[in-house]
Amino acid sequence: MLTLTPELITRHDVSGPRYTSYPTADQFQTTFGPTEQAQALSMRRLGIGSGHQPLSVYAHLPFCRSLCYYCACNKIVTKQYDKATNYLDHLLTELELTVDLLGKRESVAQVHLGGGTPTYYHDDDLTRLTRALQEAFDWQEEGEFAVEIDPRTVTYKRLHHLKLLGYNRLSFGVQDLDPLVQEAVHRVQSVSQVRTTLDHARALGFESINLDLIYGLPHQTPERFEQTLRSVVAMRPDRLAIYGYAHLPLRFKPQRRIDEAVLPDARNKIAMLALANHLLQDAGYVYIGMDHFALPNDSLSVAKRQGRLHRNFQGYSTQPDGDLVAFGVSAIGRMGPSYSQNVKTLDAYAQMLSQGQLPVERGYRLTREDLLRRAVIMSIMCQGRVDMESIESAHLIDFKRHFHQELKRLGELQEQGLVVVKPREFEVTELGWFFVRAVAMAFDAHLQNSRERQHRFSRIL
Ligand code: SF4
Repeated sequence: MLTLTPELITRHDVSGPRYTSYPTADQFQTTFGPTEQAQALSMRRLGIGSGHQPLSVYAHLPFCRSLCYYCACNKIVTKQYDKATNYLDHLLTELELTVDLLGKRESVAQVHLGGGTPTYYHDDDLTRLTRALQEAFDWQEEGEFAVEIDPRTVTYKRLHHLKLLGYNRLSFGVQDLDPLVQEAVHRVQSVSQVRTTLDHARALGFESINLDLIYGLPHQTPERFEQTLRSVVAMRPDRLAIYGYAHLPLRFKPQRRIDEAVLPDARNKIAMLALANHLLQDAGYVYIGMDHFALPNDSLSVAKRQGRLHRNFQGYSTQPDGDLVAFGVSAIGRMGPSYSQNVKTLDAYAQMLSQGQLPVERGYRLTREDLLRRAVIMSIMCQGRVDMESIESAHLIDFKRHFHQELKRLGELQEQGLVVVKPREFEVTELGWFFVRAVAMAFDAHLQNSRERQHRFSRIL
C-alpha cells in the first residue's frame, strides 16, 4: 500500500483534463452539428467506422428540487413539475429520431440516468422513460444499468420501483456528513438518511453502490472530514469517489452563495486528500485511479487487476470501449470517430426537436492522429500501461519516432518516480497512478499546442 503524503501532493499539484474523452470537450466545434451527427449514427447502422461493441446509453435529467451551493452541473432547480414532464416528452422525441437513424434494438451494455436529480421524476415518469429505452434498445442480461439518486428524494418503495424497472446500480452524493458543512452548502441529509438508503439498496439486491464525497467545502477541516470518512467507511459502499471542490464563482453562479472566508486553505485541502487516501486504503479499499476507490471484490477492482478498465463520460467502467449515445440537454456522446454535444438550454433543445432536428450544438471528428493519441491516453488512464508494439501495429507508426518528444517528457516523469519506461513499453508506477492525468497529458497534442488551456482544467488531485 502506498500512502500519499502532503509533500507528494504538493510536488505534483498541477491542473489538467480528466480525459473522459480525447480530445477533451473544449476542443469541440460548432462545424459539427445535427447533419454530422446523423451521418455518424447512420454509419454505425451500416457498420462503418464504429466498432461492433454494444452501445452505452446516457440520459441527462437536469431537474432538482433545491440548489446545492457547490454545484457545477447543468441543472434546473424548479418546483414546476410540468417543466420536467415537457422535457421528458422532448427527450423521447430525441430518442425516436436517434433510433430512426441508428436502427431499432441495438444491443446495450450500459445505461446511466444522470443529472440533475433523476429521482426528481415521479415513478410513473421514470417508468415511461425506462420502457421507451427498453423498447428502443436491447438491454443485455449482464449489463450495468445505473441511476444517480438523491437520498432526500427516495424511499424504499421508490428504490424497489427502480429495481423492478431493471436498474442494478446506484450512485449518490453524500459530499459530507457534518451538519455545519451541509448547512453551508445547502444540502442537508442526515447520517441515518444515508445509511438507511444504502441498507435499502442492499436489501433490494443492487449490485454496486457508489457514494460521492467532496473535500474542500466550507467549514471542512481534516478533523471534521475524518469523521465523515469514518462514518462512510463503516457503511461499506462498494465504490467511493472523492472529488476536490473547485471554487469558481465567476463560472458557476450557485457557488457565489458560498462564504469564501470559511473555505479550507490549500494546505488543509491537501491534508484531507492525503487522509482520505490513507484511511480508505487502510479500510481495504483499492485505489482505482482518478478519485475512485472500490472494495476488492467490486467489478471495478477486478477489472483493474485484470487490465480491463475502460473510461467514458461517466468515469471508469468495466464495459468494453464503445459508442455512447447520449440524450438530453448538454449530453455528450461518442459515435465511431466522433463526439457530439447537445445544446445546453431547455428552449434551444425543445426548439430543435420540434423542428425534427437532432439537438446537437457542437462536436468533433477525430483525425488519424487524434485516434492514435486517444488509444495511448486511454491505455494510460485505464491500464496504466502502454504496449508500444500493439499501438504500432494498430496505427501503423514507429512509436519511438512518432512520440520522440513525448518520450522525452516521460523521461522526466520517470525521474519523479511516476512511470517506468522499458524498451517496448512504459508503465505507470504505484505512485504514478495518483498522478495519472499528468502522465496522460504528455500525449495530449491539443494541450501541448496551447499551454494556457491547461489552466482551464481542475487540479489533477
Ligand atoms: S449537486 Fe446535484 S442535486 Fe445539487 S443542485 Fe447540483 S445537480 Fe442538483
